[in-house]
Amino acid sequence: MLDAQQALERLKQGNDAFVREDIHSPYLGGQLRRILASGQAPFAVIVGCSDSRIPVEMVFHQGLGDLFVVRVAGNVVHHTQLGSIEFGVDVLGAKLVVVMGHERCGAVDACLNMISTEEANLSEHLNTIVDIIKPSAAKASGETDREVALNKAIKFNVEANVQRIIDNSEIMAKHVDSGKVKVIGAHYELSSGRVEFFD
Ligand SMILES: [Zn+2]
Repeated sequence: MLDAQQALERLKQGNDAFVREDIHSPYLGGQLRRILASGQAPFAVIVGCSDSRIPVEMVFHQGLGDLFVVRVAGNVVHHTQLGSIEFGVDVLGAKLVVVMGHERCGAVDACLNMISTEEANLSEHLNTIVDIIKPSAAKASGETDREVALNKAIKFNVEANVQRIIDNSEIMAKHVDSGKVKVIGAHYELSSGRVEFFD
């Protein structure tokens, strides 16, 4: 199993390949499927947005069995996401957790709009997501430039969800305290395909 630093290097290399369009697809063969059928040991857990433009394995150029992926609109960490993260780390042994936000995130954008218009006609389920993003959007909403506000809100939301993992899970706090597991944020730029890590 890769340690946290090695895992981060592998993600960086994979994303470099994606950005350069140096892409091969050696990861989907039957032999590998049969090996993986008996067990998995993904080297990283990625919490990403459901946004269709950011398929996580593709942007990191990884294949079957490599990543334990949690995708949810706004890359928020609530109970079920936290359970998945704990499983990826505590049971499967991944040493790196990345919460990845992205440019022009619709979920964060909608939250900013709600704050400025004070409109809130959402379903109970959408509200669960909005409630988590709202403090980050509120913190950025003082910016006069809308684009700047959105970019800041997206970054604040990543930082807040990194913190939620440590604050809301004793298991994760214990792993991070041990120094063996790292939880970091990242940002995906839509047009370049580049991932910037906040490590
Ligand atoms: Zn998004």
